[in-house]
Amino acid sequence: MSEIKKILVANRGEIALRILRTAREMNIATVAIFSEADRNSPHVRYADEAVCIGAAPSSESYLNTKKILEVCHQLNVDAIHPGYGFLSENADFARKTGEAGLIFIGPSPEAIEIMGSKLAAKQAASHYNIPMVPGTAEAISDREQAKQIAHEISYPILIKASAGGGGKGMRIVENEAEFDEQMDRAVSEAISSFGDGAVFIEKYITSPKHIEIQVLGDQHGNIIHLFERECSIQRRHQKVVEEAPSISITPAIRKEMGRCAIDVARSCGYYGAGTVEFIMDENKNFYFLEMNTRLQVEHPVTELITGVDLVKQMIFIAEGKSLAIKQDELHLKGHSIEIRVYAEDPSNNFLPDVGRLERYVRPQGNGVRVDDGFEEGMEIPIYYDPMLAKLITYGQNREEAIQKMIRAIDEYHISGVQTTLSFCRFVMQHNEFTSGRFDTNFVNRFFLPQYLNPAASEPAMQLAAMISAYFMQQKNPEKPSQNNGELPQSSKWKTQRLKGI
Ligand code: ADP
Ligand code: ADP
Ligand code: MG
Repeated sequence: MSEIKKILVANRGEIALRILRTAREMNIATVAIFSEADRNSPHVRYADEAVCIGAAPSSESYLNTKKILEVCHQLNVDAIHPGYGFLSENADFARKTGEAGLIFIGPSPEAIEIMGSKLAAKQAASHYNIPMVPGTAEAISDREQAKQIAHEISYPILIKASAGGGGKGMRIVENEAEFDEQMDRAVSEAISSFGDGAVFIEKYITSPKHIEIQVLGDQHGNIIHLFERECSIQRRHQKVVEEAPSISITPAIRKEMGRCAIDVARSCGYYGAGTVEFIMDENKNFYFLEMNTRLQVEHPVTELITGVDLVKQMIFIAEGKSLAIKQDELHLKGHSIEIRVYAEDPSNNFLPDVGRLERYVRPQGNGVRVDDGFEEGMEIPIYYDPMLAKLITYGQNREEAIQKMIRAIDEYHISGVQTTLSFCRFVMQHNEFTSGRFDTNFVNRFFLPQYLNPAASEPAMQLAAMISAYFMQQKNPEKPSQNNGELPQSSKWKTQRLKGI
């Protein structure tokens, strides 16, 4: 056991602040790092000490392993928390942190390596009784053979980058005629975005829900799960609305999914906080998708329904303590919803928007939590992910959490950049969402930019949504996606922007 006295947070924005706050509660001294673009960020002022580590591009700052380790050495830091994104899933960084005599607040480099490859993850999990999406177990090397497999599992299929993440590196293939073209694109995207051209096939589940399980493991082999999060409201395969618990699963499914998640974690000797993601079809069959070996963006909803501070647990685990929470002591209480407030224009294909936060007023009140990293007057840098904040509500039940969310969105005033707030309000009021019928196609199926017109009354919006859904269904009853394997324009733009990071 080694007590942590000083933590460096190798991240920025809301997640940096969130970790710094917990460290302060634990009387641990804190160090923030920042790039030249983030000089005025709240996380810089919040920490006991802060060091500028380089120019705005992440490759010169937040991804600069050498510089980060140097700062740790100079300031006598004894542990690094990587947050999410940036170096959080970089096994080499975790290894170098250990070699420098520091504690990496996360899993072992070996676990990160295995789970960082979707194929290696499936291979590890295959030793346990865990359902997998039908597809190929290895990277495609022989196209004709791959086509044969695609034919056997039947189209549509997905070609996925083994190293993919953040919803990138996936192509839908509707039929065999499209196979070669989509395969070429998938490989070249995988190389340009992740530096690894390995791709594989998965059956494309046409009406799926994304449900994931939070796990915590200690360094002594104890692993527990903290129930599920439902994350099916996505744009370009990336989540925008998350909630816990999921309205779609029964206690029996929850128990079995929890068992599978613990086994996936066990398959790589996992310790720390991690998330095991599943996809669930219309018949409530669920399949293992991947494991994220880090704190997840949407972790607050789990904190609110379980009362467990996940960052605090991560720190205890990193110190070598045994988990003090036992599985049978954990109980679900109430309901929590999170919306991601992105600087994006929902009426323009969710294209990232940059600019100055002219006005920024947070909602408050009972059951409302805002995790953010910006203040009024700040410029939103173009260099990083455009997420401004997360708005989280907690209620005794789902209906109350939704009502609080609508109220909180109405209190949230942001001007200077377009945000996803209006879109999220649309979601909260939509029948498909309130009824729990929605799946990952919600945005494609039910959302049209004109619904965000504030002049439109609620019943008119609902009616317009119903009409559009009806026509969409008539036009193409089976079609799972409207974009022919292509990601929307904005996503390509973002991929370009993230290149070289
Ligand atoms: P989560 O998996 O935590 O629910 P995301 O999928 O949105 O959330 O990813 C978490 C963060 O990591 C986001 O800020 C996202 O931009 C970033 N991220 C994840 N994978 C990649 C990637 N391959 N390239 C760039 N950024 C990524
Ligand atoms: P990432 O590493 O980018 O998060 P995931 O494998 O977790 O990749 O998939 C991200 C999202 O893409 C899922 O939440 C789901 O919406 C969609 N997706 C992934 N695999 C499938 C599949 N086999 N069928 C249908 N949708 C899928
Ligand atoms: Mg995922």
